[in-house]
Amino acid sequence: MKPETLAIHAGNLYKISTKDVTPPINLSTTFLRDEDGGYSGGHMYSRVSNPNRSALEKALSELEKGAEACAFSSGNTAGMAVFQALKPGSHIIAPDDMYWGFKKQLQTIFKDILEIDFIDLTNLENIAQFIKKNTVLIWVETPSNPLLKITDLAGVSKIAKENNLILACDSTFASPCLQNPIDFGADIVMHSSTKYIGGHSDVLGGVLITAEKNEFWDKIRNIQQVGGAVPSPFDCFLLVRSIKTLAYRMRGHCANGMALALHLEKHPAIEAVYYPGLTTHPQYDIAKKQMTGFGGMLSILVKGGSDEARKVVNKVKLFAQATSLGGVESLIEHRASVEGPDTKTPQNLIRISVGLEHIDDLIADLNQALAG
Ligand SMILES: *Cc1c(COP(=O)(O)O)cnc(C)c1O
Repeated sequence: MKPETLAIHAGNLYKISTKDVTPPINLSTTFLRDEDGGYSGGHMYSRVSNPNRSALEKALSELEKGAEACAFSSGNTAGMAVFQALKPGSHIIAPDDMYWGFKKQLQTIFKDILEIDFIDLTNLENIAQFIKKNTVLIWVETPSNPLLKITDLAGVSKIAKENNLILACDSTFASPCLQNPIDFGADIVMHSSTKYIGGHSDVLGGVLITAEKNEFWDKIRNIQQVGGAVPSPFDCFLLVRSIKTLAYRMRGHCANGMALALHLEKHPAIEAVYYPGLTTHPQYDIAKKQMTGFGGMLSILVKGGSDEARKVVNKVKLFAQATSLGGVESLIEHRASVEGPDTKTPQNLIRISVGLEHIDDLIADLNQALAG
């Protein structure tokens, strides 16, 4: 089935007596045991599994063409489960342009537990020299935050397979409707479902999808069920509901993202536009190969420095000045001041999450803000 169809039907797990067309919210934390000690309802205790989470996991694993999914209470806890599943002393390779929350986890929580190299993964020839005896995993983020770098998934996967390494991909910026990393050899796909999957800036969540059920996946499932950083049934219900329109929302984000990137590229107040759908993007050919659309995230460098960039984010009226991304409403932010004093993000960089408003209104708003 195609993603549009899967999105609407894969989460409808239920065959319930009242014959609801759309699944109810199951709030019970505990489930009845049969006389023989079994659980014929399929669930025992809500931290371990519950109907709404199972529906969410099924929908996401089918959309990502995986074997199974684990849903978590946030994107950060989903990613952390991967790092927790590694043996202490393991070495991992991570991207230099990485979601700052994960970089922070690795540099603080896992500082004495894992060895990490943050490197430029867009240059495949750069990777081999960093692989050591204790290297176990390559973490890729494509498109990356906030520079929209594209990593060649098939290329990195070849290196990972040759060296017996796990390949994990943070695919949040793409969503399961624009990119399926498992098709290109990834072992684990990660999403912050707070972003496009939720799509309305009203639910926090994260998910991991595995290409196959194996020993590493068993560890992750154990961390989910015994660690307990799980989403509530209501959160899962909201996400299953949001997923039904994901494919159509992504079409709108892609169309608006492309139109805005093309407009800003020609704007005299702009120094550079980072958007993987522009033919001038350094990895445009790779983006075209592994994505079915280029998404709604773009970053721009305004002419000038921090002051000029902050003036623009303060002057827009339609764009909300707020962090996060992937919602129906457009967001704008001065990224360096969100990331703090030790950030490498350029001071004149503005990150835009293009929403689903009409493109003419978005362009008019940015034009008036950039007019100075
Ligand atoms: C937001 C985000 C995360 C973290 O997700 P939370 O749901 O905020 O914990 C991870 N990776 C990327 C690319 C993100 O944008």
